[in-house]
Amino acid sequence: MALLQLSEPGQTDAPHQRRLAAGIDLGTTNSLVATVRSGNAETLPDREGRHLLPSVVRYTEAGVIVGEEAKASSIEDPLNTILSVKRMVGRGLEDIKSLGSRLPYHYAQERTAVPRIQTVAGDVSAVEVSAEILKALAMRAEETLGGDLEGVVITVPAYFDDAQRQATKDAARVAGLKVLRLLNEPTAAAVAYGLDSGSSGVHAIYDLGGGTFDISILRLNRGVFEVLSTGGDSALGGDDFDRVVAEWIMRQAGISDDAGRSMLRQLMHDACAAKEALTRTAVTELDVDLGNGARWQGLLTRDQFNELVDPLIKKTLGPCRRALRDADLSREDIQDVVMVGGSTRVPRVRELVGAFFQTEPLVEIDPDRVVAVGAAIQADVLVGNKSDDEILLLDVNPLSLGIETMGGLVEKIIPRNTPIPVARAQEFTTFKDGQTAMAVHVLQGERELVTDNRSLARFELREIPPMVAGAARIQVTFAVDADGLLSVEAMEQSSGARASIEVKPSYGLTDGEIETMLRDSFEHAREDVEVRRLREEQVEARRVVEALSAALSEDGDRLLNADERKQLESALAGLVALVEDQDHEVIRKGIQDLEKACEFYVERRMNASVSQAMSGHKVDEFE
Ligand code: ADP
Ligand code: MG
Repeated sequence: MALLQLSEPGQTDAPHQRRLAAGIDLGTTNSLVATVRSGNAETLPDREGRHLLPSVVRYTEAGVIVGEEAKASSIEDPLNTILSVKRMVGRGLEDIKSLGSRLPYHYAQERTAVPRIQTVAGDVSAVEVSAEILKALAMRAEETLGGDLEGVVITVPAYFDDAQRQATKDAARVAGLKVLRLLNEPTAAAVAYGLDSGSSGVHAIYDLGGGTFDISILRLNRGVFEVLSTGGDSALGGDDFDRVVAEWIMRQAGISDDAGRSMLRQLMHDACAAKEALTRTAVTELDVDLGNGARWQGLLTRDQFNELVDPLIKKTLGPCRRALRDADLSREDIQDVVMVGGSTRVPRVRELVGAFFQTEPLVEIDPDRVVAVGAAIQADVLVGNKSDDEILLLDVNPLSLGIETMGGLVEKIIPRNTPIPVARAQEFTTFKDGQTAMAVHVLQGERELVTDNRSLARFELREIPPMVAGAARIQVTFAVDADGLLSVEAMEQSSGARASIEVKPSYGLTDGEIETMLRDSFEHAREDVEVRRLREEQVEARRVVEALSAALSEDGDRLLNADERKQLESALAGLVALVEDQDHEVIRKGIQDLEKACEFYVERRMNASVSQAMSGHKVDEFE
C-alpha cells in the first residue's frame, strides 16, 4: 500500500528533503538569524515580530535571560547583565581591561587562560555568554522552521584574529550548533547583494553599527572574495550620535553636566528616539522629563541634527581613505559601496559616504539584516541545498602554509583563512658562500617552530649558480587551487633553475586535528614568540661567524698583522661560544660586540676592494 504524500499549502519544498540551515549575524549590539525559504533569504522574527535580538544576556539566580528583556534590566542589574560580549570574545583579560570602563564587570581572580565574569549564577566566559545568544537565535529558527538545524554560518568581522574566530566557533559548539563556516561580515553583505555573481570587481563595505565602525575593501576574483584591506574605529557608532544629540538637549534645556545618572540615561534614550525619528521625518518633537514635574519641550530639525553628527560621520572617512591606501586603490576603483549597520539608515551618512566614494551606495536591503541574509544564502549552499554549479567558491585554506627557514623556523607564505584559489610568492636567499642547492621543506600549521608543525613535503632546488651568501634570489611560489591542492615551486632568478612539487595539504587531517593544531598555536603563542626571537638571533650569530671566517681566510693574512688577527679570532671564538646560548639578548650583545671589534677590518676590506677595483678588477670579486 502506497502512502500518500501530503504537502502543506504554500510549502513548495518537501520539508524532509530540504536541509535546514541558518545564517547568524552575531553582532555587538544586536544579533539576527536568517534562513532561505522558497528561494528567498529572510531574517526570522521572534513571537512578538521583532527581528533584532539585542546581544544582551542577563544571569539571574532563576536562570538566563537573553535579548530585549535582558537589555531592559541592564540599568538595574549592570553586573549580571552582559552587554557587548563580542568585544571580549577570544580576548585575554589584559585586552579586555584596556577597553576601559565601558565594561563594568567583575572578573574571577584565579588565573585562567580565559577571563571569567562573575555573576550571581556563577562565573561565565565570553564564549558561554555568546553561546546563550546563539542558542536563543537557533531556537527561534528551529521553532519557525519546524526542525533541527543541520548547520549554521556565523559571521565575524573581517579583522577578527584566529583566537576570536576560534572562540566564536567554540561558542557555537557550546550552543550545540554545527558551524558550516565562519563568514566575514563584509563578505556576507556582498553576497546578500549578489555581488558574487559578477565576474570581478572591487567593493567597499561600510558598516556603521551601534558602537563600532568597520570599512572593508573586497575584491571579487573568479567567484572568490578577497579581503584587500580593513579599517575602522572600534569606538565610533550610533551611540555617539545619541550622545551629541543628548548634549544638544542639555544645552537647550539648561541641564547641567552633573545631572544624575538616571537623568543622563533618560536623555540618551530620548536622543536615540529623536535620531531614529529624523531618519523618517524632517523635524521631530522633543518632550523631556526634567524631574519634579518639570518638562522641556522643543524641536530638532534634520538640518540641525546633520550639523551635530557631521563631525562624527566625517571621522569615518579617515579610515576609508586609509583602507583604500592599504589596498593600493583610489576611490574611482570602487564599483559599489554596500551600506551595513543600523546607523547607515541616517540619510546624512548615505549622503556623505556616497559623495566620498562618488557612487550611490547600495541600500535596498535593510542595513540591519543584510549580513544575516548573506550568511543565510551561504548556509543554504553549504548545507547542500544547491546544485554543484551554483556553489560559490568562498573556500579558505584552514591552516597556514609555509616553508622552513634557518634556525628551524617556519615562514608562512599563505596564512590560514586565505580564500582559495590563491598564489603567493616570496623571495629567499642562500646562507653560505657558493651554496648550489637549497632544501625546500613545506609545512602546514600555525606554530613558529618546524617541529611543532606538520611536514607536508620536501624537495630540493639544485644548480643554483655559486654566489656569495645572500646574493642568490630564489623565488618560492605557493599556489592552492580551488580543490585545495597545493603546488610549490622554487626558482633561482638569474639562472632560471627551478624545482617544484605537488601536495594535498588537507589530506588526512580531520576537523578535530585542525582544531587541535589551532588551539595549540593559541596556547603557545607567547612562548613561540620567545623561541622565534632566540632562533633568529642564533641564525644571525651563525651568519656573522660564517661571514667573518670566510673573510679572514680570504684576506686576513694580507690586511691584518698577527696581533690584529689574533684579536679578531678570539672575538670570533667569543661569539661561537654564545651561539647556543638560550638568551636572545645575550646573543644579540655578542653579535654587537663582535661587529664592533671588526669595524676597522671591515673598513680596510672596503678600501682594499675599492683600490683593487680601480686597478682593473671587477668589484664583485671582492664583495
Ligand atoms: P551592531 O552591528 O553594533 O550590532 P546595528 O547594526 O544593529 O549594531 O546598529 C545599531 C545602531 O543603529 C544603533 O545606534 C541604532 O540607534 C541605530 N539605528 C537603528 N535604526 C536607526 C534609524 N532608523 N535611524 C538612525 N539610526 C538607527
Ligand atoms: Mg553589525
